[in-house]
Amino acid sequence: MNPAINHRVRMKQYPDGNPVAADFEVGASPMPDCQDGQVLCRVRYLSLDPYMRSQIAGRHISGTIAPGDVMRGETVCEVLQSRDGRFSVGQLVRCMGGWQEYTVRSGDQLAVVPREIQPPSLALSLLGMTGLTAWAGMIWQANVQPGERVLIPAVTGGVGAAAAQFCRNRGAEVIGVAGSEEKCRHAIEQLGAETCINRKTEDVPARLAELFPKGINVYFDLVGGELLLQASERLAINSRVVLCGLISEYNSPARAAGPPPGNWIRSRATVFGLVVYDFESRRDEFIAACLPDLQAGRLQQPEDLSHGIASAPAAFCRLMRGENFGKVVVVL
Ligand code: NDP
Repeated sequence: MNPAINHRVRMKQYPDGNPVAADFEVGASPMPDCQDGQVLCRVRYLSLDPYMRSQIAGRHISGTIAPGDVMRGETVCEVLQSRDGRFSVGQLVRCMGGWQEYTVRSGDQLAVVPREIQPPSLALSLLGMTGLTAWAGMIWQANVQPGERVLIPAVTGGVGAAAAQFCRNRGAEVIGVAGSEEKCRHAIEQLGAETCINRKTEDVPARLAELFPKGINVYFDLVGGELLLQASERLAINSRVVLCGLISEYNSPARAAGPPPGNWIRSRATVFGLVVYDFESRRDEFIAACLPDLQAGRLQQPEDLSHGIASAPAAFCRLMRGENFGKVVVVL
């Protein structure tokens, strides 16, 4: 592609259910101008996340996307030109750069990516918003304890894989749920899960009964829908439930009914709602806690990489079909 122009992905039309690549279009725009106080950045890595489907549906707290809008998203960028004294050419920064090759941001919208974060895509995944979500849910909210039995769906996805390893490293016993045999094997062999339920081929309630004879101590709800109902039937006394995501419902205009409150009462459960933005001020504390484990090989990040901005629509659609394997990142 011509480097003098900026290729960007816009939403073309509202998806009907599951998004398809034709709901988006790649176009060429002039390179953005860099004014005083601003920084011109080249996008190196773009994070693709399920919340973008909620933005399209007009149901996300971070705002909405309408036809014609450039898709938003978090990026790691390289500084090309700086008219803000705090940044220098070649530095890597994190910002909401969006689905495009270049972006101009004011200095206040940029955060320097620490040099220890290698590869830099980890600033979007394990040591970024994804990992922070898992840490906030499992460590700060649920306060997972050694020996507790934890249920984690989408366990090879971005948040799920991080959560499984954080819990395993704390001495908890992790039971994963995933959508294929290959994903289940990965959860057991690489992420430290004791076992993993294949949600597409197994009888999930029967497996939960077998694997949690004394109940689920912590349930990290990343999916909503049926699994939330099934898990809430099997909670242990004093269990914690972290409500984090509803991916089973994002492609549908309807909302599923929640579990009966009697399930929470009977188990004396503590139910947390998790919004990762609330934990932004603790990001450095989280990174400091995780870096030693990453460097010692006690943490890893499965990444689902695609290449070039034009690959973003198809990669996002695969994510929303549950076909990703690991954190979805576009490399530019
Ligand atoms: P993932 O990388 O986990 O990808 C999504 C995965 O969800 C798929 O790979 C698939 O895994 C699973 N999935 C897809 N459709 C369904 C379905 N119908 N039923 C059950 N599982 C399904 O995404 P992320 O790690 O980025 O996000 C995970 C969840 O966390 C999302 O719901 C997201 O919105 C939420 N989230 C919430 C945040 C907050 O602040 N509250 C912040 C970040 C994320 P498989 O096929 O293996 O089951």
